[in-house]
Amino acid sequence: MDASVQAPEKASNRQIVGACPHDCPDTCSFVTTVEDGRAVRVRGNPAHGPTDGVLCAKVSRYTERTYHPQRVLTPLRRTGPKGSGRFEPVGWDEALADIAARLAAIAGRDAQAILPYSYAGTMGLVQGESMDRRFFHRLGASLLDRTICSTAGGTALAYTLGGKLGMKVEFFAEARLILIWGSNSIASNLHFWRLAQQARREGARLVCIDPRRTDTADKCDEHIQLLPGTDAALALALMHELIAHDWLDHDYIERHTLGWPALKERAQLWNPERAAAVCGVPAQQIRDLARAYGTTRPAAIRLNYGMQRVHGGGNAVRAIACLPALTGAWRHRAGGVLLSSGGHFPVDRATLQRPDLLAGRAPRTINMVQIGDALLHPGGGDFGPRLEALVVYNSNPVAVAPESGKVVQGFAREDLFTVVLEHFMTDTADHADYVLPATTQLEHWDIHAAYGHTDVLLNRPAIEPPGQARSNAAVFRELAARMGFDEPCFADSDEALCRQAYGDAVKWDELLAHGFASLPVPDAPFAEGGFPTPSGRCEFHSAALAAQGQDGLPDHVPNYELPVPGGRYPLAMISPPARNFLNSSFVNVQSLRDMEGEPLLEIHPQDAAARGIASGDVVRVFNDRGSYRVKAEVCTRARPGVVNGLGIWWRKFGLAGTNVNELTSQKLTDMGRGPVFYDCVVEVAAA
Ligand code: SF4
Repeated sequence: MDASVQAPEKASNRQIVGACPHDCPDTCSFVTTVEDGRAVRVRGNPAHGPTDGVLCAKVSRYTERTYHPQRVLTPLRRTGPKGSGRFEPVGWDEALADIAARLAAIAGRDAQAILPYSYAGTMGLVQGESMDRRFFHRLGASLLDRTICSTAGGTALAYTLGGKLGMKVEFFAEARLILIWGSNSIASNLHFWRLAQQARREGARLVCIDPRRTDTADKCDEHIQLLPGTDAALALALMHELIAHDWLDHDYIERHTLGWPALKERAQLWNPERAAAVCGVPAQQIRDLARAYGTTRPAAIRLNYGMQRVHGGGNAVRAIACLPALTGAWRHRAGGVLLSSGGHFPVDRATLQRPDLLAGRAPRTINMVQIGDALLHPGGGDFGPRLEALVVYNSNPVAVAPESGKVVQGFAREDLFTVVLEHFMTDTADHADYVLPATTQLEHWDIHAAYGHTDVLLNRPAIEPPGQARSNAAVFRELAARMGFDEPCFADSDEALCRQAYGDAVKWDELLAHGFASLPVPDAPFAEGGFPTPSGRCEFHSAALAAQGQDGLPDHVPNYELPVPGGRYPLAMISPPARNFLNSSFVNVQSLRDMEGEPLLEIHPQDAAARGIASGDVVRVFNDRGSYRVKAEVCTRARPGVVNGLGIWWRKFGLAGTNVNELTSQKLTDMGRGPVFYDCVVEVAAA
């Protein structure tokens, strides 16, 4: 499709190619039909291979979100108490002047008292990590450790394979065995699921490994419903069986791996019976899976991030990422593992983000997972100055950050100055001093990497911003000007930032012409080894990890919180995404909320019967951190001993203004300082 467009203001009955901005591995190319300046339809781009003309239900309804009657269209200033949601419209000039003055006053004392807070509300490199980073670097604000999703797994891949690298997604269609590990692909990786279905039509066997019986599990040939946080134990037992039956590729191990004797010794401690006791699945099921994985070629593993949101998430990803090197699965383009393809993208982040603007300063770093504790810290000691200002964009931390009782308390501080760039009045926006109306993907330029395929995508604006909405980059450009930041980089336009993102590494003309450009990634990236690790091998043993005092080998690291039958908290809880939402995005789109119904807690019939709970009952779910109210659904989507609190509902749409993150903890993973959302024990009682 020709992506050429006129200036948006001249738009009339045209089709404009863009990119889905949401936090999803598929990063679809989409085509917006514009009639008389209004977007009337958004559909999948048939010319883009990974998208194949199909969008998920969420983004197919993008015009409903774009023209939502509750969209924030003017800057707003708070008039009521924090969290009351009472605001008045204010002009941009007045808002920006006041925000700049307040930030400058704080920076005059210590700029580290200011914290940006952003994540993947848009995955766009321009609206998500360019002018904003320049602004905060120049200011000397605290740095944010952006850990809330994927850092345990990403760090683990780096120690094992050398980066966020893996199979090319298109070749899953040629696999004969696919392990779908920790992924409800139908809901959160739809285009991979289409490839898996294609493989199945050609005779492949699909095995789903997940504590929840998801839609995906229903449609696979087998479901291994293990306990949360036990994936490493399962992977080690698979290794045990590969060794016991000599389903190993000795040549590959010899030439392309590091630390085999030590890993072999470790794996031999994990016979299927031991793993079965830890994982809560039959030993025979583990044996059968090992046989299938050891004897089927090509065999592929699609990992997703859910399983790494536990204490031992990094170790679990390392253990699983070792498997293809043991069997030589990497030799085939349809063999190996894929968690993220993000490491293939040559993004020029130094140019986009300009860390040199720190000019030798080294501000402290605050982990976004622990924003609750950070906001409540009185300041002093190792922590440094008390947080006085937050600028939130592309994120809704009041709903999504763990231990939300503390997060809400922190955001409710009357002495905290909070600015939120948003499309809608989210739970976080309700706590702002200023809400600034942000553009959506249909209204601004952006450029994208992906983590589920290897194409760069360009997003052109299809329509004029409604009301007074401005792009994030424009807001930070204007704040920079008002604060007297006169470095030339603060004058770069959004389109210029798009061009800078990849420099000469990707052909701009190709992006302009088609809306996407494929990276030159080999079909079978590790067929001949060549891992970009320090040793050049797949590192079963990591000297870098050992040097940090960690176990150099992958192992099973038990959850921080283990349910104790008969104890105060006898149930484990996970909080997987509701199918029609994407993190906390789309929760306010009525048609999607209608499909989703209401916040639900899935509980197994045995656990429900023991508590006198029936489907439809309102229950109280609680632990030492808090309590939330939700309707129970008694079903076998939950396994015995584990409840599934589907998320992430905005608190204001939940019962009693709560959501599942009332219960999750601010503890961190073994690697990457990530969150442990699925490492949580609770009790459930009829309300
Ligand atoms: S959310 Fe994912 S599947 Fe849906 S349109 Fe965006 S990239 Fe595609």
